[in-house]
Amino acid sequence: MRLVFLGPPGAGKGTQAKVICEKRSIPQVSTGDMLRAAKAEGRLPAELVEAMAKGALVPDDVVIGLIAERTLAPDAANGFLLDGFPRTAPQADSLGKMLAGRNVKLDCALALEVPRELLVERAVLRRTDKRTGQIYHLKYKPPPPDAVLEHRADDHEDIVKNRLDTYEKMTSELLPYYAKLGMLKRVDGQGTVEEVTQRVLQAIS
Ligand code: ADP
Ligand code: AMP
Repeated sequence: MRLVFLGPPGAGKGTQAKVICEKRSIPQVSTGDMLRAAKAEGRLPAELVEAMAKGALVPDDVVIGLIAERTLAPDAANGFLLDGFPRTAPQADSLGKMLAGRNVKLDCALALEVPRELLVERAVLRRTDKRTGQIYHLKYKPPPPDAVLEHRADDHEDIVKNRLDTYEKMTSELLPYYAKLGMLKRVDGQGTVEEVTQRVLQAIS
């Protein structure tokens, strides 16, 4: 199964991706996670660090290169879930061509929909456990006392708002792109994590 998760920052893509990937035994491939790992290891060029810090996108060729390489790894041979990629129509186009060149195709692009006013609170109060990668929320999914919490640098309110603006500009082209291909499934991302998981499972079944 080859899936794409679309949706604004804070929609719950990472949270749902972990559950679906576990159930389907496919890897979660997040360009945001890959870029943050490169940054932590000091391998990310300064201009990309700056773009991420502002809540802007990094250039298409950078993320396309990351995805081209990661999806060739042995654990992705039978499928993968892309989380946070593609974010622009050129990225979606490159992905389609890349997969066609490998004689495979996407099964579905799933858009998690959450109103903007909920997204700011979801992102600002998000915390991640550095050791396990588990995603928590200070209000909706409180971390256990022994978690080693990280607050993402771009999860502060002004940057979150920039990221949401960036997303809104880019979806105007991306959702219609997948709708035209007959691949788009829209899922309401409001409600509890478990409720959303049920909707996602139904949409991809
Ligand atoms: P994304 O990957 O789309 O940016 P995350 O999965 O990291 O979003 O979720 C953003 C924040 O919202 C996290 O703190 C997460 O714990 C919380 N969250 C995710 N899904 C829900 C939900 N259904 N209800 C409440 N909070 C949620
Ligand atoms: P995310 O973890 O998906 O919220 O992404 C964090 C940041 O990484 C974004 O704000 C962008 O700066 C960058 N990024 C992640 N994925 C992409 C992508 N597909 N295209 C461009 N920039 C990306």
